[in-house]
Amino acid sequence: MNYISTRGAGAGERHSFSDILLGGLAKDGGLYLPSSYPRVSAEELARWRTLPYADLAFEILSKFSDDIPAEDLRELTRRTYTAQTYCNVRDDEQAAQITPLKTLGVEDGAPLALLELSNGPTLAFKDMAMQLLGSLFEYTLAKHGETLNILGATSGDTGSAAEYAMRGKKGIRVFMLSPHKKMSAFQTAQMYSLQDPNIFNIAVEGVFDDCQDIVKAVSNDHAFKAAQKIGTVNSINWARVVAQVVYYFKGYFAATKSNDERVSFTVPSGNFGNVCAGHIARMMGLPIEKLVVATNENDVLDEFFRTGIYRVRKAAETYHTSSPSMDISKASNFERFVFDLLGRDPARVLQLFRDVEEKGGFDLAASGDFARVKEFGFVSGSSTHASRVETIRDVFQRYDTMIDTHTADGLKVAREHLQAGIPMIVLETAQPIKFGETIREALLREPERPAAFVGLEALPQRFDVLPADAERVKAFVAGVTA
Ligand SMILES: *Cc1c(COP(=O)(O)O)cnc(C)c1O
Repeated sequence: MNYISTRGAGAGERHSFSDILLGGLAKDGGLYLPSSYPRVSAEELARWRTLPYADLAFEILSKFSDDIPAEDLRELTRRTYTAQTYCNVRDDEQAAQITPLKTLGVEDGAPLALLELSNGPTLAFKDMAMQLLGSLFEYTLAKHGETLNILGATSGDTGSAAEYAMRGKKGIRVFMLSPHKKMSAFQTAQMYSLQDPNIFNIAVEGVFDDCQDIVKAVSNDHAFKAAQKIGTVNSINWARVVAQVVYYFKGYFAATKSNDERVSFTVPSGNFGNVCAGHIARMMGLPIEKLVVATNENDVLDEFFRTGIYRVRKAAETYHTSSPSMDISKASNFERFVFDLLGRDPARVLQLFRDVEEKGGFDLAASGDFARVKEFGFVSGSSTHASRVETIRDVFQRYDTMIDTHTADGLKVAREHLQAGIPMIVLETAQPIKFGETIREALLREPERPAAFVGLEALPQRFDVLPADAERVKAFVAGVTA
């Protein structure tokens, strides 16, 4: 398997899965994709139907990472996707499923279900990919006798998923910047209660943007970055995307009886990483009818799929909503889909994303390309705080099921795209406890709390407070690694 950049640079070079594992963007600013998608045969699809999650993950990942010996990869997936790690299920018998399918009912003739992706250690779907990344990083670094210092900024979900994935991993340290006293008590406790010696929580005296600016400043200091072996785990990482392909297959098998059936998926979307994995599953041959992109008020993706216009938002136009993990101004993985939409023409992708940088967006409405969006199965919709609250209330009353705000955005939009006879699977991306304020508003009760999280806020916390100053952060990192 060879990987290429969406912008075409280095077309003659070869990049294996391991080559791009630790990196971010390609040299030309593009994103990596396989030179072609592996197709799944009918025989494979039949065989995969009954596999446990870890073995299904092995089958799918091995098609993308032929430079990792099969026995190593199998061991690695079995170590990663365990009932022990994905234990925060609402029904204990379901833990072995890793991503259980919860049937809600039939609406407009369409069976409606939630695919639970948030039973991992941080109660959000980011665990699905990040846990695998932790295992892959440890494996690759050990092989080459290398070390890595991950530097990141978080306002919640991503940072905690990264810390729980990398805790105790050999050769890896995590330096995670978060805004001091600006996260919820639950989120703060989730991160700061980690006592592992390779995890460093840095509480920055400032807001999230200050944290992000510091990470950028440190990354732009190339000498420091190289000397300290600084890396990141952001959402454009290819291994994260491909890890997410697995649960589309798992969800399909759980919702159907035979491989002749088709299903649709609705995906609460921000950076387009999750639904990009759905697109790849479909390109591999999984019988997906529709991929429904659900956004909140930050509807840059919904606007594109409705109109063909991609227009990134300015900071002032980016809203803070009650589904905060979808509050984005541009979708960092979107370029991967655009590459496929344009028939894999890197010169045009380069031009379009130059336009994004120079003019703030591009317009494909008039071109024949936009019409092809339908061939790829994509449709979309958006949500508001009011519809989110209404959906949480409705699902609780009708199905006795408590859902989080992001999943509510998904369900609201899914209902606008139901087709009789075609199961609709809504990806559940977080548990309600993470966004308790809106649950209390909608249901006038406390969100459900998994057993492992009782008393979390009372645990001792370990963190360092630093001013919003990149030099001070560099000095802190250098002090630890010395
Ligand atoms: C990250 C996140 C999303 C958005 O996923 P993308 O891959 O960025 O589209 C949705 N819901 C939750 C809870 C998340 O943490």
